[in-house]
Amino acid sequence: MGNIRISTACFYCRRVRKKCDNEETCKRCLKKKIYCYRTKKIINIITILREFKKIKQENICLKQKNKKLINYHNNTRPIINNLIKTMISTNDYKQFLPKKN
Ligand SMILES: [Zn+2]
Ligand SMILES: [Zn+2]
Repeated sequence: MGNIRISTACFYCRRVRKKCDNEETCKRCLKKKIYCYRTKKIINIITILREFKKIKQENICLKQKNKKLINYHNNTRPIINNLIKTMISTNDYKQFLPKKN
């Protein structure tokens, strides 16, 4: 084995120690119906996973912000409802109504 092109061979060919045709999906993997992994592809996958992790983290942040807003809304709603009730009961609301001509 003088002519070693092992660095570009896919992971499966490397594992079974067979020659890889170095196609995008090599014949051996195609025949086996398995994903043809290469170092280059692995790097791509790692990049995608990193992006995914970042987006997931951002999503968690948004969810937390959203939760805060929902909490705020839930906390202020009874106050506002109470205020409206009080205004109605004391006839205070009338000053906000358009005046009759
Ligand atoms: Zn291969
Ligand atoms: Zn392969």
